[in-house]
Amino acid sequence: MRRGRRPKWMLKIAEERIDILFNRADEQFAIHPERSNRYVKMARNIAKKYNMKMPSKWAKRFCRNCHYFMKPGLNCQIRLSDSSVVIKCLECGNINKIPYIKEKKERRRRKNEHNNTSKKGTDE
Ligand SMILES: [Zn+2]
Repeated sequence: MRRGRRPKWMLKIAEERIDILFNRADEQFAIHPERSNRYVKMARNIAKKYNMKMPSKWAKRFCRNCHYFMKPGLNCQIRLSDSSVVIKCLECGNINKIPYIKEKKERRRRKNEHNNTSKKGTDE
């Protein structure tokens, strides 16, 4: 198979399939955790095949070490530290850190913009 980037429509379909697989994994986890793990595996295979990044909303739903599906309160613990979300996988004990600095920066930027506009208002 040809390597490299796939056309956009193909990536869109791949992303939809990953979405379906993770939604199903989420539904089935309480009853059939082993199925959820198979769905994660399938989703990862799709991402690999299409040379694409795992959608960010799902990237934090499986362990980067053992690749198990993670369900908060069931097999993972979520803590908030200063600038990241710390997710501990209770299957293998691995700790995944997801920084949320981007959001923080965005908020700061918005705040600055707000200050600038209000300053302008007082000058006039
Ligand atoms: Zn794990």
